[in-house]
Amino acid sequence: MRNMLELSRISVGYNALQVVWDVSLTVQRGELVALVGANGAGKSTVLKTVAGLLRPISGQITLEGTRIDGLPAHAIVARGLALVPEGRRVFPYMTVAENLELGAFLETRRARIQETLAWVFDLFPILKVRHNQLAGTLSGGEQQMLVIGRALMSRPRLLMMDEPSLGLAPAVVSTVFASVGRLLQEGITVLLVEQNVRKALELAHRGYVLENGRIVLSGPSADLLADAGVKKAYLGV
Ligand code: ATP
Repeated sequence: MRNMLELSRISVGYNALQVVWDVSLTVQRGELVALVGANGAGKSTVLKTVAGLLRPISGQITLEGTRIDGLPAHAIVARGLALVPEGRRVFPYMTVAENLELGAFLETRRARIQETLAWVFDLFPILKVRHNQLAGTLSGGEQQMLVIGRALMSRPRLLMMDEPSLGLAPAVVSTVFASVGRLLQEGITVLLVEQNVRKALELAHRGYVLENGRIVLSGPSADLLADAGVKKAYLGV
């Protein structure tokens, strides 16, 4: 099967400070792949690099067979890859609907934007209920739905999510993970970064463990969940 996304020996740094070394990973069409690891391991750095927000020092990134490293972020969005960044940043003084429409910044056809908006409302009915409300008044869980919805407005085939469950109440965490499952049913491929290693691996097909900027383990999620090292380091058993 041809890879949807392929990272080949990616190294990344911030100025002189290298934080990611030789990361190789693949995501196949229709897969949910989890990239897990401790705080500061470099997970966000990897996602930002794929999204074109950071330039790799070395290595190659291909999306559906075409190289994307070196392309500007908007050109990567145009090729069908969207990032839901960490931190649930919404535009608080804009309505839910206005926040969503910003995600369709590459689309000029009004009818197409309306159609996509209806699709997002169908996926996240709470956003339809709240469409006229200022985004700053939403709960944390609703804001997470909104930033996911905003990324979906670009009609991505591959969605990367950075820590969607961070800081949410347990009940809301389940709602967010359930929505990830729905995206897969919609045919969207997902690369999920999580500190909630157990939940992420329970949902994902495959996983990669990142430690200090290097992939130390990868494989089917079930194997990782059963791995003694993973259990000890990340699952608290
Ligand atoms: P977290 O879950 O805390 O976001 P992470 O695994 O996503 O962790 P990164 O955010 O990618 O980790 O950070 C990896 C390393 O890069 C850390 O040591 C961090 O301090 C460093 N780092 C991140 N952003 C910058 C930056 N803008 N400038 C300098 N160093 C940075």
